[in-house]
Amino acid sequence: MEQLNDLISTQSILLFCYLLGSVTFILGLKMLSHPDTARKGNLIAAGGMTIAIVATIFLYKGHDGEGLHNYGWIFGGLVIGSVVGTMAAKKVQMTAMPEMVSLFNGMGGACAMLISVVEYHHNEYPSMGMMVIIVLGMIIGTVSFAGSIIAWGKLNGRIKDRTLPAGQIINFILFGAIIIMAVMLIGGFSDSPALFYGILAAAALYGILFVMPIGGADMPVVISLLNSFTGVAAAFGGFLYNNPVMLTGGILVGSAGTILTILMCKAMNRSLKNVLIGSFGGAKAGPGGAAKEQGNYKEISLNDTAVLMAYAQKVMIIPGYGLAVAQAQHACHELEKVLEDKGVEVLYGIHPVAGRMPGHMNVLLAEADVPYEKLLEMEDANDQMSSTNVVLILGANDVVNPAAKDDPSSPIYGMPILEAEKAEHVIVNKRSMKPGYAGIENDLFFRPKTSMLFGDAKKVLQDLVSELKQV
Ligand code: NDP
Repeated sequence: MEQLNDLISTQSILLFCYLLGSVTFILGLKMLSHPDTARKGNLIAAGGMTIAIVATIFLYKGHDGEGLHNYGWIFGGLVIGSVVGTMAAKKVQMTAMPEMVSLFNGMGGACAMLISVVEYHHNEYPSMGMMVIIVLGMIIGTVSFAGSIIAWGKLNGRIKDRTLPAGQIINFILFGAIIIMAVMLIGGFSDSPALFYGILAAAALYGILFVMPIGGADMPVVISLLNSFTGVAAAFGGFLYNNPVMLTGGILVGSAGTILTILMCKAMNRSLKNVLIGSFGGAKAGPGGAAKEQGNYKEISLNDTAVLMAYAQKVMIIPGYGLAVAQAQHACHELEKVLEDKGVEVLYGIHPVAGRMPGHMNVLLAEADVPYEKLLEMEDANDQMSSTNVVLILGANDVVNPAAKDDPSSPIYGMPILEAEKAEHVIVNKRSMKPGYAGIENDLFFRPKTSMLFGDAKKVLQDLVSELKQV
C-alpha cells in the first residue's frame, strides 16, 4: 500500500501532467500544419499547457518540501492575463494579427527576462552553470522583448523606419559590450548588481537598434526570428526550474520560429542578412509611395467581366492583401460557387507572402469555407497558369509583379511570383492605381492582356455575382 502511495506520489502526478503538456504541445504543433486540424490543434496544445500550469500551482514542491506561495499574485496575474488576452484576441482584425503576435511574443520575452531577474536575486551563491543560464536567458529575453515592441510599433505605424548613421557599428559595439559584461559576471570577476542591470539595459538597447532600421514589410520575418529567441529564452527558464514542459515548449517554439524564418526568407528569395540589413519596404519604398506614370491601362466593365468568366473553362483567383482589407472572402466564395454551377473550374493561386502574415490567405479563405483542395501553392498554380482562361486578381499587387523576374533594380527582384501574365486574360480588381506594400509600380497592370476592374473587392464581387446570375 505504501509502495502504491509512493508510486502515485504528487510528484509523479506532476511529472505525468508535464508529459501530457509536452505531448499535447507537439501534437498541437503538428495539427497546426493543416487548416482542417489547426483549430483543434491549438485547443489541444492550450489544454495540455493549462493542465501543466494548474498542476504546477497545486502540486509543485521545492527542495524544502514546501509548495508555492503568493497564490494571490499568481491567480491575480492569471485572471488579468486571461481576460486581457482573450478580449484582445477576440477584437483583433485579421489584418492586425502580426501586430498582436508581436506584442504577445514581446510579453514572452519579458517573462523570460523577469524570471532571470528574480532568480539572480533569489540565488545567493549561484553556480557558474546557473549564472550562464540566468544571464543568457535575461539577454535573449530582453532583446526579444525590446525588439518585439519596436516591431509592434512599426506594424501599427506608431514607429517609423529609422537608420542611425553608423547604426551597424553601434550595434556591433553594443553586442561586444554585452558579451564582455556577461563574461565578467559569469566568470565571477564582479558580482555587482549594477553589472547585471548594465547588461539588461545594453540588451534592451540592442533589441531596439536591431529592429529599428529593418523595413516595415520585413517585420513578420523579424517577428518570427524574435519568436524563436523567446522560445530559447523560455527553454533557459526550463533549465533553471528543472521544468521539463517549459524546456520542451521553449525548444519547440525556438525551432519552429527558426524554421518559419527560413521558410519566409526562401519564399521571398532573400537571405536573412538581406532582410535584417536590406531596409526593404522601408522609407524609400514604403507603403503609400506615389505611383509613377507608366503608359496606359484599360478598364473592363462588370458585365464584360461576368461574360468572360462565365464562358471560361478555367478561372484562377489570386487573392492578396486587399481581399483581407475588404473582408471579401465570403463574396469570393460565392463567386466561386456561381461559376462552378456554370461548369467553370475555379482554382485559387496562393502566394506564400500574400497578405500581411504567413498563411494569411489560407486562413482568410478557410474562414469562408473555401475547400482546401482548391488552394494551389505557388508552384502548382504557375504550372496551371498557361491553361487558365481568366486570372482574377483580387487586391493582390506585389505577389504578381513581373518586376520580381525582369527588373534587377527592383526591391522585390528575385522574389518568386504568381505568373498571372501567362494566362489568357488577366483581370485586376483594386481601388486605384496605387502601389502595394513594396511601394513600387506594377507593369502587369499596363500589359495588353490585362484589364482593370476598379472598386472595393467586396462590392465588386457582390455585383459580379449578381451579373453572373443573369448571364
Ligand atoms: P500588396 O500589399 O502588394 O497589394 C495589395 C493591394 O490591394 C494594393 O495595391 C491595394 O490597391 C489593394 N487594395 C487595398 N484595399 C483594397 C480593397 N478594399 N479592395 C480592393 N483592393 C484593395 O498585397 P500582396 O498580397 O500582393 O502582397 C503582399 C505584400 O506584403 C508583399 O510585398 C509581401 O512581401 C508583404 N508582406 C507579406 C507578409 C506576409 O507574411 N504575408 C508580411 C508583411 C508584408 P488600392 O489601394 O489601389 O486598392
